[in-house]
Amino acid sequence: MKIASPIGNWHEKASKLAIEGRLFVDGEFRNAASGARFESINPADDSVIAAVSRGDDADIDLAVAAARKAFKSGAWSRLAPRARMAVMLKFADLIEAHAHEFALLDTMDMGKPIQEMLTVDIPLALTCLRFTAECIDKMEGTVGSTANDVLSYVLRQPIGVVGCIVPWNYPLLMTVWKIAPALAAGNSVVLKPAEQSPLSGLLLARLFVEAGGPAGVLNVVNGLGREAGKALALHNDVDKIAFTGSAEVGKLMLIYAGQSNMKKVATECGGKSPHVVMADAANLETAAWWAAMGIFGNQGEVCCAGSRIIVEKSVMPDFIDALKTEAKKGYVPGDPLNEATTMGPLVSREQQKRVLNYIDIGKQAGATCVLGGGVPDGLDGGAFVAPTIFTDVDNSMTIAREEIFGPVASVIPVSGYDEAVAVANDTNFGLAAGIWTSDLGKAHRFARDVEAGMVYVNSYINGDMQLPFGGWKESGNGRDKCMDAIVSYTQSKGVWVTIGN
Ligand code: NAD
Repeated sequence: MKIASPIGNWHEKASKLAIEGRLFVDGEFRNAASGARFESINPADDSVIAAVSRGDDADIDLAVAAARKAFKSGAWSRLAPRARMAVMLKFADLIEAHAHEFALLDTMDMGKPIQEMLTVDIPLALTCLRFTAECIDKMEGTVGSTANDVLSYVLRQPIGVVGCIVPWNYPLLMTVWKIAPALAAGNSVVLKPAEQSPLSGLLLARLFVEAGGPAGVLNVVNGLGREAGKALALHNDVDKIAFTGSAEVGKLMLIYAGQSNMKKVATECGGKSPHVVMADAANLETAAWWAAMGIFGNQGEVCCAGSRIIVEKSVMPDFIDALKTEAKKGYVPGDPLNEATTMGPLVSREQQKRVLNYIDIGKQAGATCVLGGGVPDGLDGGAFVAPTIFTDVDNSMTIAREEIFGPVASVIPVSGYDEAVAVANDTNFGLAAGIWTSDLGKAHRFARDVEAGMVYVNSYINGDMQLPFGGWKESGNGRDKCMDAIVSYTQSKGVWVTIGN
């Protein structure tokens, strides 16, 4: 699926876009209680896109109260499954109808090429919403086997008020992965978007009400993580936090739950994912195409980026040549509002500085920079970083251990399968892993041996709504997409009924 392009120029469309920056609470837009605002900046040219209300604990209190009131009213939580499904499907249709606005908002907010919004983010968000809606009346409880005089069964019910805290790398998509299953299960939601990408969540909330969603069921409070985010995660009337973001902040979510009401916590965090290329890979060019996509797609700002490319030494020279070719061909930084652009700026000047610092650390550690390594020529007016490849990387180097979250590949040589698996697993993270091999046994052994929540054989970052998305180890404990994700926004209740003989 691809969203059709506009008639006319994206810059012209952007200049005419009416942008809403207020909070959305109890079915209406309102300023933050304090009146404070922050600026949303376009990282392609440092221009100000909008002034956005900066919510804090007072606004979180209001939003949580609205969500609780809506939940208790039963207007959504007890709505017949197919009626809830109808609203969710209408919600998806409205998002599709407003696809150009979503494309502009996320591209201007975080810099990704607009063609990626049209071909990846929006189609995947729609698929998630529609899949989730279709699951609503497919969820079942269970009846236990008991003695004849008893009926025992397990009900699945919504949890209550869910706080969704999301990152900026796929603003619309990551938000939909959280709110779609939470809403489908009958919960009320308070969403806290990332401060770098606060705009598309507000449009989502408006469209949910337009689709027939009751006021108070979906609320959006923008603000800083340490203010609005922390207040939401510490709130005593929030029943679950669904978090996507860094492992560092994911760990805080668990602490906040312990410091408040022991709310349920689901975390989807970062990674340092291994992408293994064995000498028996059927086609090195194909492997290189996927390896380039795995680390340079979305500017490398991808949780499951294949940032450690682990290559068997005998094919290293050929593979590096192929990887450089694919990087130069497929990832050319430029204006993200031009539909031909394949790589945009990073999300912010701060992120650019962070990534450039990692590049310096890699050079100082003795890794060889064979491509990129700085700001692309002529693009110093925005937060751009060139696709960068380091070879001769040792897995103990900082660039092989820490999540850079930018277009920086660390290529690590290994002697064979056993060393590849040992290096792949020598990390605190466990999100994704990939292997290229024509040996079927090796492929399946890898799927068992590697410590990761998602494994790709002769492919990378692939899958559909049936496949759970989530990690092992410090990559988090939650699962997005799939039927299990919806179930994770319910809680079970065991019912024991003595019915007599
Ligand atoms: P981040 O952890 O800095 O922020 C994520 C969210 O948490 C933001 O909304 C932020 O405002 C909020 N936040 C920050 N500090 C907080 C605090 N003290 N209390 C409450 N909320 C707080 O992450 P980011 O920079 O926005 O996103 C990048 C990270 O997200 C990367 O590590 C990436 O791997 C991860 N990510 C993971 C997945 C996944 O599915 N596993 C998907 C996308 C991104």
